[in-house]
Amino acid sequence: MKELKLENVGSGDGGDSKDRGLHSPDSPYSPPQEANSASNKQSARLFSLLKDGEKHIAPNFKIKEFRSKCGADLILIDTDFVKNKLQKIREYFNEAILITSAYRSKEHNKKVGGSSNSYHLKGEAFDFTIKNIPLIEIAKYAENIGIKGIIIYNNFIHLDSRTVKYFARNNNGKITTVAKWN
Ligand SMILES: [Zn+2]
Repeated sequence: MKELKLENVGSGDGGDSKDRGLHSPDSPYSPPQEANSASNKQSARLFSLLKDGEKHIAPNFKIKEFRSKCGADLILIDTDFVKNKLQKIREYFNEAILITSAYRSKEHNKKVGGSSNSYHLKGEAFDFTIKNIPLIEIAKYAENIGIKGIIIYNNFIHLDSRTVKYFARNNNGKITTVAKWN
């Protein structure tokens, strides 16, 4: 896999607006210390949709599945999270994970109403559904395997790699925090 330099992050030329729709700010962001330590781990890697799109980063995930929906070539992906968490979820439910939003360029994030410090901008957040699996079941399993950022929206679940627990439901923008899923 080829890694690219960071300079073009944020470029995006609009276009696909399929996944537009309600995706309000994911959550209050972690306090500064935690936010820093989270970004210091630097597990997100850069890829090119054109060059790397068809490559796998885990047995059931290709790089193109994580692209920004604006059509930007650059893709940031927290590959550790994909390998160690999403792949596990895929195997546990034995069903395809249908990613609706992962990496977002700055422009695209703005367009879909994402928070300005969204984990999606860092390639560390993943919105998806699994056919025939209730979102609550995904949340429970995600909690069991140690995922700290879990938000259930109306039509999808959001998982991210934050290090301080934040569980919530977001119903059309109305946010309710949740102590435990299990
Ligand atoms: Zn999200």
